[in-house]
Amino acid sequence: MRSLAHATRDNEKLIQQAKHWLESAGCVAAVTGAGVSAESGVPTFRGKDGLWRNFRAEELATPAAFQRDPLTVWQWYQWRRGLIAECQPNAGHFALARLEQKKLDFLLITQNVDGLHEQAGSGKVCRLHGSIWVVRCISCGKEQEEREAFAELPPRCTCGGLLRPGVVWFGENLPAEAWREAEAFMLRCEVLLVIGTSSAVYPAASLAPLARQCGARVVEINLELTGLSAQADAVLAGRSGEILEELIG
Ligand code: NAD
Ligand code: ZN
Repeated sequence: MRSLAHATRDNEKLIQQAKHWLESAGCVAAVTGAGVSAESGVPTFRGKDGLWRNFRAEELATPAAFQRDPLTVWQWYQWRRGLIAECQPNAGHFALARLEQKKLDFLLITQNVDGLHEQAGSGKVCRLHGSIWVVRCISCGKEQEEREAFAELPPRCTCGGLLRPGVVWFGENLPAEAWREAEAFMLRCEVLLVIGTSSAVYPAASLAPLARQCGARVVEINLELTGLSAQADAVLAGRSGEILEELIG
C-alpha cells in the first residue's frame, strides 16, 4: 500500500505540473459542480448530505415530481434557498474569480444554481442548470429573480399560474445558448479544470471528454475518483478550496 506521505508528495508534484499547464495556456475553462460549494456549507446531491426528509434529490428535482406534488418540491426548494442564503463563497470560488482576471480567454461553466461564483466576483459564468434565485411561471412563462422566502407555498404568478424554480431538473433540456457556449469553448480551450463534480450528470459530464478529444489538458479536482478520473491528465485529490488556492494563488 502506498503511504499517505507518498500520496501527498504525488499530489504536490501534480499540482506543480497543473500550475505550469495553467500558466502557459492562453485559453482556459473550468467546469464546476456541487463539490465547489460544499466547503461553503451547501449540501451536494450525492452522499449522506443529499437527503431531505428521506427524499433523495433525484426524486424531487424532476418535472414529474413537481407535477405530482408541487408543494413538497417547493418545501424542499424553500429549505435549500434558506440554507444557501446563509452561505458565503469559499476560497475555491474566490480563486476561480482571480483566474478569470489573469486570463484573457476564460469561461467558468457551472452546474451550480447557488449563485456563489457570481457572489465571489466571477463575471464570465455560463450557468448550465439555471439559478435557484429565479422563478418561472408554468402558465405564462414569465421569469423573475426572487430572493425572499415565499409566504405561501407553492407560490403563484400574478396571472394565477404556478411558479417553478428556474433550475434545470433531471430529464430536462439545458438552456440552449449556455450549452452552445460551453461546447464551443471545449473545442478551443487548452486547459480544462473539472472541479467538485461527480461527472455523472449528463450532458454536462460530456464536456470534459470533448475538450480532451480536442487536445485540452484536463485537470480534475475532487475528494474522490469519478467516472472522468481515468481520462484526466491529472487528478488532484482533495478539497477544492485548498487545492484551487494553491493552484491559482
Ligand atoms: P454531485 O452532488 O453529483 O457531486 C458532488 C461531487 O463533489 C462529488 O464527486 C464529490 O466527491 C465532490 N466533492 C464534495 N465535496 C468536495 C470538496 N470539498 N472538494 C472537491 N470535491 C468535492 O454534484 P454535481 O456533479 O454538481 O451534479 C449534481 C447536480 O446537482 C448538478 O446538476 C447541480 O445542478 C445540482 N446541485 C447544485 C448545487 C449547488 O448549486 N451548490 C448543490 C447540489 C446539487
Ligand atoms: Zn404567469
